[in-house]
Amino acid sequence: MVHTHAALFIDGAWHAPTSRDVIEVHSATTEEKIGQVPDSTTADVDAAVAAAGRAFRDWSATTPAERADVMERFAAALGSRAELSARLVSEQNGMPIAISTVAEGQAPAGLLGYYAALARATELEERRPALAGNGTTIVRKEPIGVVAAIAPWNYPGLLAMMKIAPALAAGCTVVLKPSPETVLDAFVLAEAAIEAGLPAGVLNIVTGGPEIGKHLVAHPGVDKVAFTGSTPAGRQIAETCGRLLRPVSLELGGKSAAVILDDADLTATMQGLATASLINTGQTCYASTRILAPQSRYSEILDAVTAMVSSLPVGDPLDPNTFIGPLVSADQRARVESYIETGRSEGAKLTTGGGRPADRDRGWFVEPTVFGEVGLDHTIAREEIFGPVLSVIPYADEDQAIAIANDSEFGLGGTVWTADAAHGIDVARRVETGSFGVNNYTLDFGAPFGGIKASGIGRELGPEGMAAYFTTKSIFLTD
Ligand code: NAD
Repeated sequence: MVHTHAALFIDGAWHAPTSRDVIEVHSATTEEKIGQVPDSTTADVDAAVAAAGRAFRDWSATTPAERADVMERFAAALGSRAELSARLVSEQNGMPIAISTVAEGQAPAGLLGYYAALARATELEERRPALAGNGTTIVRKEPIGVVAAIAPWNYPGLLAMMKIAPALAAGCTVVLKPSPETVLDAFVLAEAAIEAGLPAGVLNIVTGGPEIGKHLVAHPGVDKVAFTGSTPAGRQIAETCGRLLRPVSLELGGKSAAVILDDADLTATMQGLATASLINTGQTCYASTRILAPQSRYSEILDAVTAMVSSLPVGDPLDPNTFIGPLVSADQRARVESYIETGRSEGAKLTTGGGRPADRDRGWFVEPTVFGEVGLDHTIAREEIFGPVLSVIPYADEDQAIAIANDSEFGLGGTVWTADAAHGIDVARRVETGSFGVNNYTLDFGAPFGGIKASGIGRELGPEGMAAYFTTKSIFLTD
């Protein structure tokens, strides 16, 4: 079935695009065309930003409880489409359905509910006695304005909603630009918004690639940019926002470490590590793809990682037993294969994978791959691969393990694997990162998520995620 959309969701309705150009979407598994949507022009972006600007006047004046009511209706409408959203994402980017059912089907509606509840519970004004004496200051949280939200293809619905839900809760309006590779599920979002009666212009969706993204980021009608994607694109966006003095949050790439301590139970560790390092076929920004193993147990751990990875079911992402699906695109596969080639040529030892699965003649599959004897200066130990490729690196003692974990331009995720969870927390405190897990990691709606260094600026999720959409006003009252 080819999902065809002829119009864009702008100003609360289906808006005829200004150009006849289209974006074609292909299945990561069959390579066949599965969808077609209009390719936005800059004029469509201008219309979306203008609609968001008009809508901001009324939406920002609603009470948090009124906004929460609308968001809960939106959550219900989206929740009733959860199966469709999950399936579309799996078809587009190859995400195993067991993951998309939760991350792309249930979580976006759950996030709307979480931020609706937080909106109800958040005090927007507080009174502080002036420390200078003779007065009081009212400190107000005010919505920042029109938000440009730009999402990548790896978790398209979840990462879009990590921006939309807190923005709406704060009283902001949004123009979303999803990735062209995974644009179809954004049309399901639009259908849910219409059914829920979201006021016109509160959420608008434009399509297109980097050029449309650039136009949106620099648009004079935008007050804040929220971006998730690659570090190079994040740097460009930050430069534009720096010039414009425009608030921006950036959730970028990662190269996180899994520190296996010498007391770790290897059976439990391997079970957890499969998810922590290879969830969504390694196309996960926080994945722990550098496996740090104590020298004393190095060959035992390399064997265990190799056995675990080579046992993971590879196949059709719509099969609930699949753990490794295809990559999102032919380009992404070429990128991952070139890293595998670099790993070989720089002298790392391939212990499993390295090619394409023999039983798949279609789809952008790469075998799950492990390299041992990876040097700290090897390209595969330093750069984000964003595919199912793990490097197992030896360390002499715990101090060196932490030094290796921190020897990265990135600082997004990471994990420690140990029989002593309290000791694991000590390790977590010493790793330079935004998020960390002891004996596994998962995103938690209530906990801020984001990176340091080249992994970005700012946090999403939790109350911190909503704070990013407020500006603060102080009103001084003389006694
Ligand atoms: P990408 O940077 O190529 O594209 C992301 C989005 O930005 C797309 O919608 C794209 O069209 C748009 N875009 C690209 N260049 C732009 C520009 N200069 N100005 C405005 N918009 C632009 O990233 P991708 O390949 O889609 O996603 C993979 C990357 O995203 C990986 O590096 C991954 O680590 C990162 N990621 C980070 C997080 C996080 O939370 N830190 C989460 C998921 C993915």
